Amino acid sequence: MNLGITATQYLEQIKNGSLTVEEFISKTMERINKVEPSIHAYISLNNDAISQAKQIDKKLKAKENVGSCLGMPISIKDNICTKGMKTTCASKMLENFVAPYDATVISNLKSQDAIIIGKTNLDEFAMGISTEFSYFGPSRNPWNTDYVPGGSSGGSAVSVSALECIASLGSDTGGSVRNPASFCSVVGLKPTYGLVSRYGLISYANSIEQVGPMARTVEDTAFILNIISGIDQHDNTTIDKGKVDYTKELDVGVEGKRIGIISEMIGEGVDKQVAAATSKAISKLQTLGAECNEVSLDSVKFSVATYYTIAATEAGSNLARYDNIRYGFDFDVEGYEFNAYISKARKNFGPEVTRRMILGSFVPSAGYVGKYFLKALKVRSKIKSEIEQAFKKFDLLIAPTSPVLPFKIGEKVDDPLSLYLLDINTIVANLSGIPAISIPYEMTNGLPIGIQFFANSMQEKTLLQAAYALEKTTNLPGVPI
Ligand code: GLN
Repeated sequence: MNLGITATQYLEQIKNGSLTVEEFISKTMERINKVEPSIHAYISLNNDAISQAKQIDKKLKAKENVGSCLGMPISIKDNICTKGMKTTCASKMLENFVAPYDATVISNLKSQDAIIIGKTNLDEFAMGISTEFSYFGPSRNPWNTDYVPGGSSGGSAVSVSALECIASLGSDTGGSVRNPASFCSVVGLKPTYGLVSRYGLISYANSIEQVGPMARTVEDTAFILNIISGIDQHDNTTIDKGKVDYTKELDVGVEGKRIGIISEMIGEGVDKQVAAATSKAISKLQTLGAECNEVSLDSVKFSVATYYTIAATEAGSNLARYDNIRYGFDFDVEGYEFNAYISKARKNFGPEVTRRMILGSFVPSAGYVGKYFLKALKVRSKIKSEIEQAFKKFDLLIAPTSPVLPFKIGEKVDDPLSLYLLDINTIVANLSGIPAISIPYEMTNGLPIGIQFFANSMQEKTLLQAAYALEKTTNLPGVPI
């Protein structure tokens, strides 16, 4: 059986009876057991998956109504609450936390009869770009297990890429869906801020993050986006998307589309092979009739500093609840005065989260708030207005997803600043709220390179259409493990 089929192919095969849900889920579980020791995509698995599959098969046989996912196995980043399953954020703090409710995106998937196959590994509380900062140990890139899979939704990207599920949900605060998608050769989409509910997504930096789909193809990504997007009474930042089907009119092409090449994301600091792949993609788009011209977004050079100031400040407040009273790790209160108790509890955070907490307490503190936090908010507005200007001239923007190729596990882990700088091509989408997608474009020395498109707010359709057109020009190999 081919576990590498797309969501579209899966649905066809289930519908025409050449495949049962139980067969597919059992084989997927076998595959997971076989490859997990070398890649570690999952933190926990759904022990009821096979019985859920049997039930869906039964309903199909009895010609009862079944939701549009028809039992498709979907993995979920372990910072999204799934009722009755552990939701750990890859942190010792939440090692034993079982979510008492489903995030809206999870209830959406369940209502369409998706099978939540397992919860995937991440950098602790989604802070990182390599999935090395997980309390449970790193995930590995299935294309070469000495390399990182990207992050922070590394486990999600690995699980899709290594055929351990058909699609996944990640979260993208500063690139965490798109970066691992690029490193693992899968598609990853960061929706417009507010298009997808954050209810049940454990907050890191709530003013900039979104849940996003990861899948093998642009069409599959659109299919998942249809299910998870839309207004939600539990999240008042959600937007009414109107009547839109993201899987429709994907093949309109890019003829006449004006595409801006972001100068600041293709020059200095970009790996030669990444730059070459990007130029190739641009030429392809031109051949397909797109008009591509460079555009300078001057404030990109301030975006890393801006992002870390805002994200750390929001994290400082969002993670204050892990004090061992409301959430946390059990130990005896005996013999501690209040502050000592809280500080002992908070020692259960790993080194990267601790670093962010310290930064997030300092930058908005009295005496510094104007110098750092408020200044960052001003730069954020500038980035937003520059992006708005750019979309007056262009329908889409393009850049490599990551300035570099996947790097070796351990290579950068002790140098946090070098990791932060790698966010340069993704974070503008988060700071300005616009949607962006990464698609697999090339392999170089056995490692994947992803290309990224950005579109204006709520223009996911345009974004998916361009990605679909470029995807059609690629011919990429299957995963080696
Ligand atoms: N690398 C960025 C960070 O560490 C982005 C993470 C994310 O998108 N969750 O904050």
